[in-house]
Amino acid sequence: MLEQSDFIFQDERFADIQLLRYQVPGFKELSLRKKLLIYYLSKAALLGRDILWDQNNAYNLRVRQVLETIYTQYKGDRTSAEFLQFTIYLKRVWFSNGIHHHYGYQKFTPGFSKQFFIDAAKEANLDADDLIPIIFNPTILGKRVNQTEGEDLLLTSANNYYQDGITQKEAESFYAHQKKEGDSQHPIMYGMNSRLEKLPDGTLYENVWKSGGLYGEHIDRIIAALKEAIPYAENQKQKTVIEKLIEFYQTGNLKTFDEYTILWVQDTESQVDFTNGFTEVYGDPLGLKASWEGYVNFVDPIATRRSDALSNNAQWFEDHSPIDPRFRKKECKGISAKVINAAILGGDLYPSSAIGINLPNSNWVRTEYGSKSVTIGNLTHAYNQAAKDSGLRQEFVIDEATLSLLNEYAGICDDLHTDLHECLGHGSGQLLPGIDADALKAYGSTIEEARADLFGLYYLADEKLVELGLTPNAEAFKAQYYSYLMNGVLTQLVRIEKGHQIEEAHMRNRALIARWTLKNVPEAASLTEKEGKHYIEVHSYPLLRTAFATLLAEIQRIKSEGDLNAARQLVEEFGIQVDTKLHAEVLERWRSLNLSPYKGFINPEYKLVYDKEGNISDVEIHYGEAYDHQMLRYGKL
Ligand code: ZN
Repeated sequence: MLEQSDFIFQDERFADIQLLRYQVPGFKELSLRKKLLIYYLSKAALLGRDILWDQNNAYNLRVRQVLETIYTQYKGDRTSAEFLQFTIYLKRVWFSNGIHHHYGYQKFTPGFSKQFFIDAAKEANLDADDLIPIIFNPTILGKRVNQTEGEDLLLTSANNYYQDGITQKEAESFYAHQKKEGDSQHPIMYGMNSRLEKLPDGTLYENVWKSGGLYGEHIDRIIAALKEAIPYAENQKQKTVIEKLIEFYQTGNLKTFDEYTILWVQDTESQVDFTNGFTEVYGDPLGLKASWEGYVNFVDPIATRRSDALSNNAQWFEDHSPIDPRFRKKECKGISAKVINAAILGGDLYPSSAIGINLPNSNWVRTEYGSKSVTIGNLTHAYNQAAKDSGLRQEFVIDEATLSLLNEYAGICDDLHTDLHECLGHGSGQLLPGIDADALKAYGSTIEEARADLFGLYYLADEKLVELGLTPNAEAFKAQYYSYLMNGVLTQLVRIEKGHQIEEAHMRNRALIARWTLKNVPEAASLTEKEGKHYIEVHSYPLLRTAFATLLAEIQRIKSEGDLNAARQLVEEFGIQVDTKLHAEVLERWRSLNLSPYKGFINPEYKLVYDKEGNISDVEIHYGEAYDHQMLRYGKL
């Protein structure tokens, strides 16, 4: 099946953080060669962690070392309130790669006392007095990145990209001068890979992050891991990409960096892809210095096969669609979507990660050579699953039988619905001759999303999917039918602020489909009140399918004929307004679940397997590592 149904996506929770785990679907099915490529690139992706910690603040690595020593050696009462507070503080520091909040940038306030810290450090034979003001005094190094206009952004930011005392004005004129002297057609990313420092005579210079330079030892270890990956590169192009990156790490030359990104953006054939290096500039208030990050991904062969199965049968689906035959496409080709999964997250993408990545950042490289944009399927999936495990279902699903139906099939059906929507739904149907593609104006995107969603909903319940091996049985679709209505009428409202209406096209489309169905086919499903709370109650799944077919036929007619008035009427009546009372109820029920605002990921662990002769025979993936264990292990890499 698509996933182990017993996989637990949610892990521990502390402060404002919820930790998640992500699966790496398709890894086991890869060839040994590709597994090894991922293994060594992942190794390289984890080796720059200390660079990032030092970039974030000059004291971070020392704070971490002292905290970890206390954490592992503490002999006092490990259940005491002080030690638990100490543990929470350390877990937050781990999560943020330093002493400042990963998102708000403010320094953490410890929940344990100064005396506890002094005693625990003494017991562990540590001399850590210099860290007392760093940890306990809120006025020292208070904010990692300060963006308050009117203040000197460098003197007031606690990051380590500029030597203490260098003013914003000095740094800005230093780089303005570099830019003026440099190539204006193809400008390098000035200052991206260095710390700006000052000689005793006051002259500014760049201490470059490279082999033999600042962070040289770490960079040498990254280079070594990249060299281990080279023999397993998929093709010559990819080999050249890795070699060019090594050359950049060796020289620190930013022209070489541009050459590397050009090669990287042009490699679109390889299944495995990666980023490794100085990338995003959010940590520098001047937006020049790039934090270190690393990650590895690959095209998921199983998910790609799934979308292939649909697109290979695109004509069958088109011919059986419940719409007026005049609106059907005579020749229909499905879209084969490439699903990307992350294999490892490192540096500034760990534990808190982006779910979409669009690189490179150099404007002229993007203009002349394009960019790569990916959505990381397995991370999105983990977020979705965690949201569903968060107590949301228990709160909003009407009864136990429906709840177990959702727990069993919702994951599979949700993925499949997305595939149907993307691979077939958008590509199906045709406009009548002479109809303008933009005829539906502002209502066009909601109608288009509704069309693709309805196409998916209709076919989810079709025997054809069981036949193609995509759904396990003829019951599974009910999970998606129920959760779709629940989301469209109730749970998606949690993303809308009080007093606002629905704006986003996908949300409007879901509201439209769900509320149209409840109003027009009440014998299929209705909104039921139990003890002051509202629930979706499905009366007949077959009737629900018929309702979706009817609405699909109408939406396709609107699209094919360019019927603006009908589009407006449908969207205005069902897609936009929010029932104030119901909205307030949903928000209240959501708040009572008390969910964490920030999430991040525990990585899987890759291990080499050897045969009797001592040759590598496989790479195993393990998911069970505890958060603290992983953090302590990464500290020793
Ligand atoms: Zn869509």
